[in-house]
Amino acid sequence: MANLKIAKIEVYQRYLPYSGGVYYLSGGREITRFDATFVRVTTNNGIEGWGESTPFDQYIAVHGLGIRAAIAEIAPKLIGLDPRNVDRINDAMDTALLGNESAKSAIDIACWDVFGKSVGLPVCDLLGGRTDTRLAVLESIPVADEEGTRKLVAKSRAAGFTGFSVKIGSDPVANAKQVKAALEDKKPGEHFLIDANGGMTVESAVRMLKILPDDLDFVLEAPCATYRESISLRRRTNVPIIFDELASNETTIAQFIADDAIDGIGLKVSKTGGLTRGRRVRDICLAAGYTMSVQDTSGSDIAFAAIVHLGQTIPARNLRCILECRAMCDGKTADGPFDVHNGHLTAPTLPGLGVTPRMEVLGEPVATYY
Ligand SMILES: [Mg+2]
Repeated sequence: MANLKIAKIEVYQRYLPYSGGVYYLSGGREITRFDATFVRVTTNNGIEGWGESTPFDQYIAVHGLGIRAAIAEIAPKLIGLDPRNVDRINDAMDTALLGNESAKSAIDIACWDVFGKSVGLPVCDLLGGRTDTRLAVLESIPVADEEGTRKLVAKSRAAGFTGFSVKIGSDPVANAKQVKAALEDKKPGEHFLIDANGGMTVESAVRMLKILPDDLDFVLEAPCATYRESISLRRRTNVPIIFDELASNETTIAQFIADDAIDGIGLKVSKTGGLTRGRRVRDICLAAGYTMSVQDTSGSDIAFAAIVHLGQTIPARNLRCILECRAMCDGKTADGPFDVHNGHLTAPTLPGLGVTPRMEVLGEPVATYY
């Protein structure tokens, strides 16, 4: 297809309730619903690609209104460009607006979906080719007390999950109790990310680690809010540390490698800016020998599809797991062969992302650019 151009970009919006009622994060942060943005890119010959960007408002500096405002700045500049030239699409988006990765992500994912459909290949094949790995799925466990944590992990385990991202708070003593409760019944092959979402000071993190027994098997994620604190903690502990919030793009990761700051990252598609930048981050992390958890801030079926395709391209030794973001959101927005069996799945072989959006759920577009 020599002549393929973006003819129209439509934006859809839905509120997706948090499936567990109230989601608690360190520092008293709570969330009850997610403001999801969906993008449909239509080409001159009628190929449609879809993308989703669903932020977790109090996690990083992104929110739904901001995403849609940024798309309003970017989308008109993309009309007439070839969506398969994904790096050039990203150049055009960067020229239109600095930053705003979460907005660019929805458009970028939609372009990959178009690309796949235009050549009859799944997105994971275009991203470098699928591995034969069955992807282990991770579930997010919000901050809770010891008993609550035990129950949530048991429930998640019973549902087949083998990976657990346990959110902890700020208090070292309460955190240590929660971590011990979470890991109490750890089974072989399970992995635990203990995620403070930047909520601890260096002091509270050191105190928590001193309280905990030495033989607990976990990785500490995002212990502190700033890079300086995180590096300070890194120099004082032998616990593996991974970054999530601070691992925002390829340039920050290049710095982490230079400083030997971490052992891995949470590779969140929308935070990184989509699959094009996700691919770049993946390759830099592979070169560094990092372990990756492929995730997103939140999201429903289309966001999950992007996670699955990127995760499917990472060799097993460097892939910790992928996030079942759909478990956070009530409401199905698309259909496709993305069923999880015994905590695992593989990317579909359908062209593009392999999703069919439910138009009756997405409703009418809130903005159209052409
Ligand atoms: Mg995290």
